[in-house]
Amino acid sequence: MSTNKIPIIYTQEYDIGLFNIEKLHPFDTAKYSKVYKYLLEECGISKEQFFMPQIASDEDLLLIHTSQYLNSLKKSKNIAEIAEMGILSIIPNFILRKTILRPMKYATGGTILGCKLALKYGWAINLSGGYHHAKVDSGSGFCFFADIPIAVNRLKENNPNLKILIIDLDAHQGNGLESVFKDDPKVYIFDVYNGFIYPQDHRVKKYIDFNYPVEMGINDMQYLSILYNHLADAVEKVKPDIIIYNAGTDIYEKDPLGALNISMQGIIKRDEIIFREAVDNEIPILMVLSGGYTKQSAEIIGKSIENILNNVIEYNKRDKRQKN
Ligand SMILES: [Zn+2]
Repeated sequence: MSTNKIPIIYTQEYDIGLFNIEKLHPFDTAKYSKVYKYLLEECGISKEQFFMPQIASDEDLLLIHTSQYLNSLKKSKNIAEIAEMGILSIIPNFILRKTILRPMKYATGGTILGCKLALKYGWAINLSGGYHHAKVDSGSGFCFFADIPIAVNRLKENNPNLKILIIDLDAHQGNGLESVFKDDPKVYIFDVYNGFIYPQDHRVKKYIDFNYPVEMGINDMQYLSILYNHLADAVEKVKPDIIIYNAGTDIYEKDPLGALNISMQGIIKRDEIIFREAVDNEIPILMVLSGGYTKQSAEIIGKSIENILNNVIEYNKRDKRQKN
């Protein structure tokens, strides 16, 4: 078994735990460790090969968020609102900080590390992150910290001129990203989302550079044709130095929140198209997991990463060549 590092980021701190209360929310809170387990068992990756993130510091969070917003999370009522789980408002704040905010801070640390690894390795995957509804002064839709904008800011400290393309294929409009980056001429957003579900944030839609709202329940062919017809043009137009891919799996046919009709094979194909576009053009890419709320989500993500490793990155082949 290889001991070479692989730019996939994971820590056991990612899973969100809350004495089974999380079962009230349609959010598979153990999704992250299940994907990790799949990669260990099915892809022959060893524990030592993964990268572990550091927890995002207050300084990291303050790169984007206001201190007023961060202070508001000291009230359980406000956390309950963002998590859309009213019952959380009666739980002591220190418990919520440990069981919800702490994993989210690690997810943010993972996205920060992921951007750096993508530049070094050509690609990286954070097995969490993608909380694309978080704004400068508010959270919503289970998104507390704007991990991608925070990571972009950290990345720009050493690379101020980087051009960044965010491809947001979570089923929901990435309104947090659009709001945070509205005045940033170096960040471009390509967003395909169900236009008839949350958040329908019409005020920030104009900041989407490549805007593809779709109908309820569209199928694989309709969905993938958007990528076949428009992705290469967008990449050609922006010529990004890095792609950040928000790979939400809530477009899955059984996902109650996404309300689209994409099969497991369709999602695997989607991720392959994005990675192939990046790899063929030698553009570093970071993938983050974002939404995806069904019991099948972890398996879909595991299979998709396996497909990317075997068929796009050809990781195992490259690994063998390095050893010979
Ligand atoms: Zn979503």
